[in-house]
Amino acid sequence: MKILRGMRDLSEDNAKKMEHFLSIATKNAQNMGFGLIQTPLLELSELFTRGVGSSSDIVSKEMYSFIDKGDNQVSLRPEGTASVVRSYLENKFDKQKQIKKYYYHGAMFRYERPQKGRFRQFNQFGCESFGVESVYEDANLILLCDKIFKDLKIENILEINSLGCDDCMPKYKKNLQKQWLTYKDDFCEDCHHRIDKNPMRIFDCKNKKCNETSLNFSFISDNLCECCQNDFTKLQSILKENNINFIINKNLVRGLDYYSKTAFEFISNNLGSQSAIAGGGRYDKLIDILGGDIVGAIGFAIGIDRILELINMKETREGIYFGSLDEIYIDKLYSLYVQKSDKEKVFIEYTAKKLQKHLKIADKRNARYCAILGEDEMSKNSIWIKDLEDKTEKIISFDNFLIN
Ligand SMILES: [Zn+2]
Ligand SMILES: [Zn+2]
Repeated sequence: MKILRGMRDLSEDNAKKMEHFLSIATKNAQNMGFGLIQTPLLELSELFTRGVGSSSDIVSKEMYSFIDKGDNQVSLRPEGTASVVRSYLENKFDKQKQIKKYYYHGAMFRYERPQKGRFRQFNQFGCESFGVESVYEDANLILLCDKIFKDLKIENILEINSLGCDDCMPKYKKNLQKQWLTYKDDFCEDCHHRIDKNPMRIFDCKNKKCNETSLNFSFISDNLCECCQNDFTKLQSILKENNINFIINKNLVRGLDYYSKTAFEFISNNLGSQSAIAGGGRYDKLIDILGGDIVGAIGFAIGIDRILELINMKETREGIYFGSLDEIYIDKLYSLYVQKSDKEKVFIEYTAKKLQKHLKIADKRNARYCAILGEDEMSKNSIWIKDLEDKTEKIISFDNFLIN
């Protein structure tokens, strides 16, 4: 049997890194008032076609979709935000303008071409805040994301932009479509589709020539209305006040259709090429698209799989390895092992072996202590312990061993 293409098992070192990541990310989210939400992996496909946008690659090419036994057209979630919004609206929290702050983590699915560090089942950690319109909340989410990376000691560059609102964005898009006519021959076919449906997406085309040509256009951040401009200026001053370094990337438009005002990405230069390790923004419009009353909504998601490559965990010895020199002592050894497991990490070897063999296995397991029972020790109701870090040895009574 073989694993499916584009999937992977997460175990050993990567699993340890994942636990480390989640403990830091959840602690920081909880400290800032976010609570866990778990939504199903499977949703009606319509949630994503409406929420993520049917023209996006994610929905048009990459979703795992099928008809279930109840004749429902369903999809495995390709991202986390749409489901969290669905839950917020289903509970009618929008009608009461309720402030809700959620964090989530778990598997997402996209049928993409597998590449290094990219999997068809991948893991995301995200935070979503509903009911707050203040630009302080935009800053708050960026600060939270920044704290997580600082705690993980992951270097990054923060890029921010403003995408405008329902007032200034449509005017800008019209203007962009006009400017486009002069340069359209220099753009790729995909961009020719984008300019009608989502003109601002030409700025994140992967094609180099499109990128260079788009520098001729005026950017949305130079065409903001007064309200958007004030918020964008305020956001920058809050970030500076809190010693968060950032650069303004006028090309940053994010891949999805529903963002407005604040958009941001955290970029790492340590993954071969420049890649985004987290991204987010304000998406008040998504609430509207999914049929809710408009409330403030902003969030971010971190791609955990790429992050694992950036986490350096110091290998420290921990736990106790238990071994015996003769089979007749295994019962006693097993009882010590079980009692000690209440307090710390323990390993046991059920087959009796010579001391040197036990020491070797304990070392391989990266145990801090090697605890051995033999005839001498049993006669004194004691156990022999070697500290594999400072190399000291001692014999200690069962009672003292279990207390300490
Ligand atoms: Zn505006
Ligand atoms: Zn293009």
